[in-house]
Formats: sequence, structure tokens, C-alpha cells
Amino acid sequence: MNDFTTLFIIALLVSNAIQFYLAYRHGKFVDQHKNAVPDAFKDKVPLTAHQKAADYTQAKLSLGKIDEILGIAILLGLTLGGGINWAFAYATTVITSPLWAGVAATAAIFLVMSLVDIPTSLYQTFVIEEKFGFNKSSIGQFAKDLVMQTLLGGIIGLPILALILWVMDNVGSTWWIWAWGIIMGFSLLMSWLYPTVIAPLFNKFTPMPEGALKDRIQGLLARCGFNSQGIFIMDGSKRSGHGNAYFTGLGNNKRIVFFDNLVESLEDEELEAVLAHELGHFKCKHVIKMLISTAIMSLISLGILGWLIDQDWFYTGLGVALEQKSHATALLLFMLVSSTFTFFMQPISAYFQRKFEFEADSFAAEHAQASKLISGLVKLYEENANTLTPDPLYSAFHYSHPPAAIRIAHLNAKS
Ligand SMILES: [Zn+2]
Repeated sequence: MNDFTTLFIIALLVSNAIQFYLAYRHGKFVDQHKNAVPDAFKDKVPLTAHQKAADYTQAKLSLGKIDEILGIAILLGLTLGGGINWAFAYATTVITSPLWAGVAATAAIFLVMSLVDIPTSLYQTFVIEEKFGFNKSSIGQFAKDLVMQTLLGGIIGLPILALILWVMDNVGSTWWIWAWGIIMGFSLLMSWLYPTVIAPLFNKFTPMPEGALKDRIQGLLARCGFNSQGIFIMDGSKRSGHGNAYFTGLGNNKRIVFFDNLVESLEDEELEAVLAHELGHFKCKHVIKMLISTAIMSLISLGILGWLIDQDWFYTGLGVALEQKSHATALLLFMLVSSTFTFFMQPISAYFQRKFEFEADSFAAEHAQASKLISGLVKLYEENANTLTPDPLYSAFHYSHPPAAIRIAHLNAKS
């Protein structure tokens, strides 16, 4: 225990108090607006759908609170409670190589954390999603996904972790620049491989059949000067009733993906407008801007870690005895604790994300019909049971997309 312990506890308490307060406000606001559809949606969304969205929002908020308390307990147990200290002390008694002992202890802690997440995730899927009619998954599918994700995490994560720890141990004080290069190269490789190698492990991707919709979409791509490796329909409905569209990949490996249930529920012109919005993110350089800002943030973070790694108070302040002071414990502590401090920057990044959404909407309004994007969005809000009346402070803090009414007013001004 030292001054850093106090600072950590204060940051943890303040950030979680803010989270609870915002969730409380959001729940209250949604409840107060439950009995009337907002004016802008009066003739488009029935009251029953609006009330379903309110109930769904409350159910997710309640689970979120339990999840948050669980998260605090685990973080405190691993740090001040001595969990990390114990795991590393134990690993070094069974594994002689310090590098592999560090890899094993880190992997074990991540494994325990994902096991603890399972009950919440089961409740989310088979109680909440089920109750509101969104769940299409079975226990078998859920178990299969979990095993696949864990295996994939091990196959991809362990070698990269070992490589970074090796670099930390062997290249001297500039290790953090090398580690940054490795992480950046690796995430670019993953983005490139994702659409063709990783995503097909979980879902089936079928090329969009020839026909009016495909012609319409190819017309849009040609108008926007966008090259892609194909337009695909994904069997999202095998897990969930929520619909979506996105494009993935880098360079010449880009793919456009529509969830099958989205294609079912939207008209061709609405799908075109939704895709135009997604292309807007690309054409307005949002993808590249996000990549650059992630790269800068990672470099700053690793630079901070490069300094912390030599400070004894960083370890002892977070429940790790100096006998367990190592690059591996520093890296793990940093990964677990940094979000407690970066939490306070969340409204800034949410603000920029919403700014990008407005720009992508403007792009869509230029290259497709704004009125069709509006009608498509209204259907999506209704079908996904997204609330139309979020608390303003809650949405300012958390929302990556502008609240429905504001977004549609912005699009209306463009149509
Ligand atoms: Zn968007």
C-alpha cells in the first residue's frame, strides 16, 4: 500500500460512481418517456415497440450493474487482493524459464477472467435476449463459440505475448518502441486476415445473388469509386435477431457484409442508403484516422509503461511484492489497470465517433437517398429495440452513434 494505491482506489471509485450515476439517470429518463412515442417517430413507431425498447434497455442496465460490481471485485482481487502476485509466484515454482512462467501466469489470469464472464454472458443470451425475442442461439452453439474463441485467443495471443515479453527482456530500454511496432504490424495483419480467415470460422458468408439489389449496390460502389472483394450475406440469424451491415478488411482484401436478417427487413433502397453510410466512413478517411489515433495512443501507453516498469511503487501499490517484479507482471498490471484511468477520456472519443457518424450520414445523403436512410434507421431502431429516448448525459458519455432523434433531424436537413 502506498500513494499509488490510494490514487488507484480513488480513480476506481470515481469512475464507477460516474458509471452508476449515468446508468441510474438513463434508466429514469427512459422510464419517464415510456408512455409516449417521441413526436418525430409518432407515425412510424408503434407505442408497443417503444415500450419494448424501454423494457429491453432497463433489462440491459440491470445486468450491466451486476457486471460492473463483478468487474470491480475481480480487479481488486487480482491486484490488491494478491491474485496476480500469487499466480506469478506459483508459476515460477513450476516453470523454470522466467519468460514462459510469465506467459503461463498471464494466460491463466486471462482464462480465469473469461470464465468469470460466462454466467453474465449466458444470462444476457438465454434470459434477456431470449425474453425479448432476439436469441436464436442454442446452448450447443454458445459452447462451440466459447471453445473456438478460447482456442483462437490462445493460438494467436500466446505467441504474440511471448514475443513481446522476449523483446521487453532482451532489447534494453527502447523495448517499448519495438513492442509498439510488433503490436501495430500484428493488428494490421489481423485486420487483413479477419474477413477471409477468422470471420468464416464463426459464420457462413455467401456472395450476394445476382439481381436488382446487387445491381443497385454495384451502381453505388461505382459512383463512390470503391473497390471491394465482393458483397456477402452473413448468416447472422443463426445467433441473433439483431441486424447489421459492415465492411471489413484492408487494402485489396475489403469485403462488404450484410446480415441476412437486415436484407430481409429493409427495402433495396434502404440497404443502399445504409451501405452508402458505411462507405462514407471509408471515403471520409475515418478508418485511417481511427488507425492513426490508435497507433498514437498505443505509443503513448507503451511509453508510460516503459517508465512505470522501473518504479517499485507501481508494483507494490497494486499488490505485487518486489520479488515478483518483472516485465510480465508490469505488462499485466498495466493491461488490467489502465482502463480505470483512461475511463475519464471516454466522452472525448465518443464525441469524435459521433462526429464521424454525422459525416458518414452526410456522405450517404449525397450518394443515396437521405429519406431512405431515415426509414431504414427507424426500422433498425424498432427491430433492435434501441431506445429512442436516451438520457442526454448518458448518451453523451457512452454513445458511439448520435441519439435517434438528433441523427434523424440531421438527415432530414439534408433531404
Ligand atoms: Zn456509422
